[in-house]
Amino acid sequence: MQTLIGSNDLGSFIFTYAYIFIFGACLGSFFMVVGLRLPQKEDLITPSHCDNCQAKLKPWHLIPIIGYIGLKGKCSQCQQKIPVIYPIFEVLTGCLFTAVVYLLRFNKETMIALLFMSLLLICTVSDISARKILNRVTYPAFVLFLILRLTVSQLNPWWFTLVGAGIGFVLLLLLGLLSYALLNQKGMGGGDIKLFTVIGVVIGPLPLLAVLVLASVLSLVYVGIDFIITKKFKRKLPFGPFIALASLLVYVYISGMWQLLLRLF
Ligand SMILES: [Zn+2]
Repeated sequence: MQTLIGSNDLGSFIFTYAYIFIFGACLGSFFMVVGLRLPQKEDLITPSHCDNCQAKLKPWHLIPIIGYIGLKGKCSQCQQKIPVIYPIFEVLTGCLFTAVVYLLRFNKETMIALLFMSLLLICTVSDISARKILNRVTYPAFVLFLILRLTVSQLNPWWFTLVGAGIGFVLLLLLGLLSYALLNQKGMGGGDIKLFTVIGVVIGPLPLLAVLVLASVLSLVYVGIDFIITKKFKRKLPFGPFIALASLLVYVYISGMWQLLLRLF
């Protein structure tokens, strides 16, 4: 087994990664709150409550995964079922954070990778729940990643960052206008365009094109499978989750995590 931060001790290895997993799961819980509340213009500091009976949740109910298991997946007051997506999302975020740190170790790119995944997760939640990718998320992310890529860490030559942002914005804007002209419907939202611009900053122009192709293929596969199951064509689909998944896969490849992952087996 590979060791971390110079430690040969299996105990400290497990402790370190358990800590990172818990940290990721807590953040996952927070991303869920951000993605669900911001589109509804709710503030983030109001204590969490049951959506059905409005009963306030006790502090231990908020412990990721454990709170859900302790409550047996139901509100303690009204017995309304808590969506199973909450603990799944917490586990997913915990696993993603653990995998990133394990594969990239602690360096500058690790910080960017974790922030990038946080952005993708929040946008996925808000796009699925409210069909919105919010300026309040993408604008600060654009500034943050631009500063980080130009000053702290770079996978590519520095100008790839600017070209990536430019291509991300122009390409999706053109696609949006084209789909509007041809289909007379708003296919690509402004949120998608802004998210794509930020992704361009993080990964650069060529991987960005791969993201666009992959996201389109993934959405078509989803529509195809959905048609086979429901016998109906889903015409309006949030594109954000497909952009997020495709970005994650492309980023895992270009950051070298994929190669490191293969070496483990
Ligand atoms: Zn309740």
